This record gives sequence, structure tokens and C-alpha cells, in this order.
Amino acid sequence: MKTQPRPIVDRSLPVVALVGRPNVGKSTLFNRLTGSHYAIVEDQPGVTRDRRYGKCEYDGRLFRVVDTGGIDFGAEGSISVGMRRQADLAIAEADVVLLIVDGKRGLLPDDYDICVKLRRAGKTILVVANKIDGPRHEDGIADLYGLGGGEVFAISAAHGRGMPDLLDAIVAGLPEPVQAEHEL
Ligand code: GDP
Ligand code: MG
Repeated sequence: MKTQPRPIVDRSLPVVALVGRPNVGKSTLFNRLTGSHYAIVEDQPGVTRDRRYGKCEYDGRLFRVVDTGGIDFGAEGSISVGMRRQADLAIAEADVVLLIVDGKRGLLPDDYDICVKLRRAGKTILVVANKIDGPRHEDGIADLYGLGGGEVFAISAAHGRGMPDLLDAIVAGLPEPVQAEHEL
């Protein structure tokens, strides 16, 4: 019998949340980080219906990844409302938030608003410019530095470009592992 992927219940693991406008590549990045095809990737924005949880291990650290794309659309049908809900969720449960931006389109007001909200909450944010499939796409990411968070990680979730640098930064942003009692 085929086993269905199940939400990870291990609450002790740190959480990395993927936040961003519809169609920026959150689910594609989720799939790359977790090695799963569980998150649904579609050309149509907002197609991911639920939050998706997966696990990622890198450099000896294990963490949970949550694709917040299921709340792309609020009941009001507004992208901005959906993004605010993503931010609330990420603020509530994430240790590190990846703010995913479409690097080919550059910075949009929704990206900026969400960033301000996350920063106010004191979250560790990594700004990720996705869809940078090759060096010629890098020109468009200059204005993303305006998000004020320092480094911008230029990646291609679809092809894996830039992933090692991003993963290094994610792991560096995780809280120190809680040592199991029997290890003390
Ligand atoms: P989400 O709505 O943020 O979850 O975005 P998806 O992961 O569903 O991706 C939206 C669209 O962008 C799909 O057509 C993907 O194939 C495409 N996409 C995602 N990542 C990349 C990338 O690195 N490069 C390019 N060129 N397209 C990408
Ligand atoms: Mg999605």
C-alpha cells in the first residue's frame, strides 16, 4: 500500500517558513528543500490549498519546512490579505522566514509590506530572489536590497542554482539545538 506523506508532528524541530506572493516559487522551493513532490506546483497562482510540512536535513541540522502557500487567497480574495495571513502564521511558528520574491519581476508593494510586518515581529528573515536561472537574470535583484535585510539570496528553485549559500544561511539562523537530557 502506498503511504501518504504525513505532516511532521515533531514539534521540537525548528521551523522554516516559506512566505511570498502567489507564483513566486514557494512550492517549488519546498519540493527542493524537502525532496518531496508533496507541495503542488502550478502555473496558476494560489493553487496550493493547504499548508504543507516537510523535513529537510542539511549540514547535520534537521528542520521543518512549511509552505504557507495555502493561504495565498483569503476569503476576501485579496492577495494582500492572504500574505498578511502567511506572515501571521510565520510569525507564530517559524524560527526563520524565507521571504520569496520573483527575482525576474523585482520588488512589488506586497513584498515590501510583508517584509515590514515580519521585521516588526523581530523574525529572522532571509530575502530570496527566485527564478534567477542564470547570471543574466541577476540584474533585476538590485532593488531587493531595499528590503533592508542585507544579503539577497539569488536562487533558482527549479534548477537548484544558489541553494548551498541559502542553506548555509538557513542553518546559521536556526536556534541552537536543544540537547536531549540523556546527552548531558
Ligand atoms: P507558489 O505559488 O509560490 O507556490 O509558486 P510555484 O512553486 O507553484 O511556482 C509558480 C511557477 O513558477 C511555476 O510555473 C514554476 O514552474 C515556476 N518556477 C518556480 N521556480 C522557478 C525557477 O527557479 N525558475 C523559473 N524560471 N521558474 C520557476
Ligand atoms: Mg504554492
